[in-house]
Amino acid sequence: MFVGHYSVAFAVKNERNKIPLWVLFVAVQLLDFLWAPFVLLGIEKVRIVPGITATSPLDLYYMPYTHSLIGALVWSGLAFAIYKAGRRAKASNAAALLVSFAVFSHWILDLVVHRPDLAIYDDTLKVGFGLWNYKGLEFGLEIAILIGGIIIYLRRNALSVARKSGIMIFGVVLILIQTTSTFGGRPLSSDRVVAITALVFYTLFAGVAFLLEKRQRKEA
Ligand SMILES: [Zn+2]
Repeated sequence: MFVGHYSVAFAVKNERNKIPLWVLFVAVQLLDFLWAPFVLLGIEKVRIVPGITATSPLDLYYMPYTHSLIGALVWSGLAFAIYKAGRRAKASNAAALLVSFAVFSHWILDLVVHRPDLAIYDDTLKVGFGLWNYKGLEFGLEIAILIGGIIIYLRRNALSVARKSGIMIFGVVLILIQTTSTFGGRPLSSDRVVAITALVFYTLFAGVAFLLEKRQRKEA
């Protein structure tokens, strides 16, 4: 799963919990944010096997720390603690719990699309429903949940017209990037390229989320 993860970030944010959107953008991709440097350092492993699924050529054969169920639960717990510590008085337990849920949502959505490469613990008992084998269906799911998340976000947050437009343009860009990734993208050449590409895109998206909210604060 790629841009579909952001549906959770959009859906979670509201004016009561006051979680910065960029924090949620990092949270929903936290497991991949960790995965990329782990791959670059050789701690976790991926290789390119064209055709291994209809959509993604990634053979994610070893990622016990970031993408096992136990690993995901541990990172979700840590995210709770880090958010509480980082925001101090501003963070309620409910908000920190939502951040922690956003982190864990990554594993659930990955479970739907991955082939059985997600371990329950360590490197054993691998699960994955394999929706990546159904290109059109997987693409439809990513886009549908992203749009659903954005609609919830637009309804639950009082936004200026400029800000609303910004979010909608961002949504369209995310859809275009997903379309290129699913149907057009250049074939990925190595594990390092995959990891670096993921880091660049995820950082860029979180940066845009930050700027979109910053602009709202200025308007207010
Ligand atoms: Zn992932």
